[in-house]
Amino acid sequence: MTVKVLGVPYDAHSSYLRGPASAPPAVRAALNNGSANWCTEDGRDLDPDRGADWTDLGDLDLSDDVHQATALIRRAATEAIADGSKLLSLGGDHLVAWPLVQAVADRYDDVTIVHFDAHPDLYDELDGDRYSHACPFARIMEEGKVARLVQMGIRTMTPHQREQADRFGVEVYEARDTGVVVPALEGPVYVSIDIDVLDPAFAPGVSHFEPGGWSTRQLLGALGQIAAQETEVVGADLVEINPELDVHGLTAMVGAKIFRELLGLML
Ligand code: MN
Ligand code: MN
Repeated sequence: MTVKVLGVPYDAHSSYLRGPASAPPAVRAALNNGSANWCTEDGRDLDPDRGADWTDLGDLDLSDDVHQATALIRRAATEAIADGSKLLSLGGDHLVAWPLVQAVADRYDDVTIVHFDAHPDLYDELDGDRYSHACPFARIMEEGKVARLVQMGIRTMTPHQREQADRFGVEVYEARDTGVVVPALEGPVYVSIDIDVLDPAFAPGVSHFEPGGWSTRQLLGALGQIAAQETEVVGADLVEINPELDVHGLTAMVGAKIFRELLGLML
């Protein structure tokens, strides 16, 4: 079972600042800059040059047109997983999770999404835009193709989004509820990581600073809790890294670390 890595450089419907489209090359550069090795924390060597079983498909070539871009992302993801491979994508803003999850939910029944984010991204529309990066989980849930949506690290709930969470039966674990425990998971799992789940002290290269977030260690701990369960992570994305706002390449490096651990989790 191999993992395919796909860069998804799309940020045309970010509501506030663009930038995450340049994240895939920034994270790849951090992975390959020679400052860290390719091993996961539990000691598995993921260096592709030493035979680790994953391949990088490179970046998609996407226009700003949202209908074209999401159709292309969905098609590329569908093709990537058609042979049973798992898909790990590097975003991009969070809108890309919608076509990626569509592809995964077409192939697997009863998918559970575990979504790490400061924001619930459940707006029906934001500023008149139903394709905003603040809306993907509303689009996913109204299609009714996934079994569960579990959100963790949330700290920007609004009355509208709480209504949406109730309407769609979303399981929301808020950041103010300290003592993070991932609930029991069944069936295929899709992991969606918005890097702003972390406190901006750990990941300053984001478009929406939202203090009061998780530490890098807490996120790695949550991934470890997923790894310890019987379920299989069949797809994952890492989104919302904004290199244009990064400080000393810190967020790209945190992204590289999370990427490596996610890859280890999937392999
Ligand atoms: Mn998000
Ligand atoms: Mn967010």
